[in-house]
Amino acid sequence: MASFELSEEYQELSDTVRAFADEVVAPVSTKHDAEHSFPYEIVAQMADMGLFGLPFPEEFGGMGGDYFALALALEQLGRVDQSVAITLEAGVSLGAMPIHRFGNAAQKEEWLPLLASGQALAGFGLTEPEAGSDAGGTKTTAKLGGGEWVINGNKEFITNSGTDITKLVTVTAVTGQQERPDGSIKKEISTILVPTNTPGFTAEKAYNKVGWNASDTHPLTLNNVHVPEENLLGTRGRGYANFLSILDEGRIAIAALAVGAAQGCVDQSVKYAKERSAFGQSIGKYQAVSFKIARMHARAHTARLAYYDAAARMLAGKPFKTEAAIAKMVAGEAAMDNARDATQVFGGYGFINDFTVARHYRDSKILEVGEGTTEVQLMLIARELGL
Ligand SMILES: Cc1cc2nc3c(=O)[nH]c(=O)nc-3n(C[C@H](O)[C@H](O)[C@H](O)COP(=O)(O)OP(=O)(O)OC[C@H]3O[C@@H](n4cnc5c(N)ncnc54)[C@H](O)[C@@H]3O)c2cc1C
Repeated sequence: MASFELSEEYQELSDTVRAFADEVVAPVSTKHDAEHSFPYEIVAQMADMGLFGLPFPEEFGGMGGDYFALALALEQLGRVDQSVAITLEAGVSLGAMPIHRFGNAAQKEEWLPLLASGQALAGFGLTEPEAGSDAGGTKTTAKLGGGEWVINGNKEFITNSGTDITKLVTVTAVTGQQERPDGSIKKEISTILVPTNTPGFTAEKAYNKVGWNASDTHPLTLNNVHVPEENLLGTRGRGYANFLSILDEGRIAIAALAVGAAQGCVDQSVKYAKERSAFGQSIGKYQAVSFKIARMHARAHTARLAYYDAAARMLAGKPFKTEAAIAKMVAGEAAMDNARDATQVFGGYGFINDFTVARHYRDSKILEVGEGTTEVQLMLIARELGL
């Protein structure tokens, strides 16, 4: 039985990112949240630390690490600031990873060093106004003619798609029709690289979100966008399947971020329960409070083991889809449940935005929705059970 203890290298990375999160990120989190401002200065420092290149090979300017290293970094950032953590998560696991996994030599050469350096961001354009959980409902079209794809359609909720340093969005689009073995017809969906300076590409006004206020999320309009035929990413017709496999991995990353949020709520609550007195003693002395925090700790711990397990399976080349779905679901729920309990421990202060737990309360809800809702994870798990 292998141990879940971190190796020296992983522990060092985790400690370094933890210190950065506490000393550099946390002091400006409330300000960026209140102002809904993108934390460019934090992103630049994460870039200098090599965080955007963590799982990519050194030949492309990466750190030569692996997906678990990325997950550990996300956990430490998620503990103090989910907006910063999702900016890194989406930048690496959704923005750059599709190019690493499915790009040809020229595409990797052109985009990976730029994205791994953190000097530029890329978005992942799957969701549409009428295609979310049912992402196969894609309506965006890409028509090939004269050596170019002409793309028309709309994308919804695309992270990192409208910052000053966003250079690329990879979109799914219907490129034709395919015949199934039984003779029925289905949409042929492919993925295409769209540089954001292409005429006809517009990142519309940013959403006014409940949380993740310092992260960048826009609807996109693609109006007669012309890109070269060579911008097809991966095999024509494999775009949907390729994006779903990117989401399988991404669930481990999101789970790690959520575990960080759940743990952040524990850490803040322990500290506060020791400091705050009521009826002549610290509130942590009351079992109603200490049991609540003990349960929060148990949730964070079990969710962490779930994502460690999914990551270990992935790195060992074993099937990990179900384990990633379980990790994403339990970690998202742990974050939301812990945020609710932490704000209770903080009493009235838990309702004041200056407190990290209040931000976690608003931020955590999306962890039960983004990169596959809880119901979608349950569908994947039930399917594995043959149901
Ligand atoms: C802040 C934010 C950032 C995001 N970033 C990105 C991004 O970078 N790229 C991207 O492509 N997308 C992104 N998304 C989109 C996100 O992945 C979708 O919102 C999510 O997948 C759900 O899709 P939907 O919103 O269309 O909800 P729907 O699919 O319409 O679901 C609505 C409800 O119905 C339930 N439901 C649907 N089908 C079933 C079923 N068969 N059985 C049971 N219940 C079902 C769902 O679980 C949910 O509760 C982001 C969203 C947000 C809010």
